[in-house]
Amino acid sequence: MSARKLDRKVNSHLSPNELLIFERSSPGKKAYQLPELDVPAVDAAEALGAASVRAEIPGFPEVSEVEAIRHFTRLSTWNYAIDYGMYPLGSCTMKYNPRINEAVARLEGLAWAHPYQPETLAQGCMEVMERLEAALAEITGMDAVTLQPSAGAQGELTGILLVRALLESRGNPRKKILIPDSAHGTNPATAAIAGYAIENIRSSETGVLDVGALERIVDQDVAALMVTNPNTLGVFEENIVHAAEILHAKGAMLYMDGANMNALVGVARPGDFGVDVLQLNLHKTFSTPHGGGGPGAGPVAVKSHLEPFLPAPRLQRSGGQLHFDYDRKQAIGRVRAFYGNFGVLVRALAYILAHGGPGLRNATLDAVMNAVYIRKKLEPYFDLPYPSPNMHEVVFSDDRQAKLGVRTGDLAKRLIDYGFHPYTVSFPLIVHGALMIEPTETESKDEIDLFVEAMISIAREVETDPQLVKTAPHLTRIGRVDEVAAARKPVLKWTPDS
Ligand SMILES: *Cc1c(COP(=O)(O)O)cnc(C)c1O
Repeated sequence: MSARKLDRKVNSHLSPNELLIFERSSPGKKAYQLPELDVPAVDAAEALGAASVRAEIPGFPEVSEVEAIRHFTRLSTWNYAIDYGMYPLGSCTMKYNPRINEAVARLEGLAWAHPYQPETLAQGCMEVMERLEAALAEITGMDAVTLQPSAGAQGELTGILLVRALLESRGNPRKKILIPDSAHGTNPATAAIAGYAIENIRSSETGVLDVGALERIVDQDVAALMVTNPNTLGVFEENIVHAAEILHAKGAMLYMDGANMNALVGVARPGDFGVDVLQLNLHKTFSTPHGGGGPGAGPVAVKSHLEPFLPAPRLQRSGGQLHFDYDRKQAIGRVRAFYGNFGVLVRALAYILAHGGPGLRNATLDAVMNAVYIRKKLEPYFDLPYPSPNMHEVVFSDDRQAKLGVRTGDLAKRLIDYGFHPYTVSFPLIVHGALMIEPTETESKDEIDLFVEAMISIAREVETDPQLVKTAPHLTRIGRVDEVAAARKPVLKWTPDS
């Protein structure tokens, strides 16, 4: 037994003890069996050239089949997943991914389609895209949709490039994008990459856009306002129609970050409240497992004045056949190879069709109800800096716990011991020490009650034993990692003496 092995703590059921596969290795073990050769043996070095053949791969793990299977199966259980329990990561909409999506995405004709397949042999895949574009246009109240962008952030960039192209075609791309202080970090990044200066707008006391301030700063230099609605406090921008009017009167546009559409689908349409362009995060609002950073899709929906600038190719139907139109003189150019992240598009359409109109609306209402329920239950224990009615998520601050030296990150770490994935920590930035909680509609009352109990229990622990919370988690294999060192000096390769 190596020293490493003895060092390792044996932990709870949450995290069985596990050696590295390299440490499990024992020389000569194999995970395969081959039949007797029925052809003459050939010397590899002779056939391929000595330079192509390695005598030894240093540290290569040698294990049996069952050891390899158990190792990787156990590892797969160490990643918290929505399929284990609630994943209340605010702003991320970590909803359960219905298995019907997976069944449909695995259909042979969809899963094995090739992007270079002739159009005549890809009509089914193209119809999936056509129907998804139409569904998203209807859900958002917009006129046209591109499915090309692969993530929310890429959709934002596409949307702002569309705004820029339209303003340029009118003679002046303008200089600035306005961004509220509650915005997601990708919004200013998008504006900067698209070549715009960023001007911040402060939120009002109630956590929404201050239209008075907006009115004062919108001038001929402003290209657009980028706003998330409901915003990152989970509060609906009640002045959105007025904001759109102010912008449009000065020839500027209203960009909506649609990552929070889970609070609106089937209830309110951005196209009806003055939005010119928005991106959707299919991997949030329309399911698709996206923990760990992918895969995603960030379609962009526009009003007709922005349609000519959408990236090529565009789907067109003529004489009953679908084809791609590449001849688009004003288009901003491609933002991605081929047609988008097709597997995610298939899942989104499956999700939409499986729910149907009333089902989508119910999902929205349940998402809001669940978040409001959590707010009501936790309000007595945690500080609520913006008491405006919340929609699908709720943002508390660690104000009360911080007085005892316990911060939002500590509370989140302790939540891991209770078997939940943490909520979003320290975002949005306008709330000092934020706890951002988004349950989504897919959690039952039982699961939400367990979560609420865990949060209340942690709030009590802070009063009685703050040290316990400050040193959490206690039940995981690894407690607190050095995040700075991990970012600055990543160890990406195993070596025998590492
Ligand atoms: C998730 C999110 C984004 C970014 O989406 P990605 O798909 O991760 O690029 C942008 N804005 C808001 C408000 C979000 O919640």
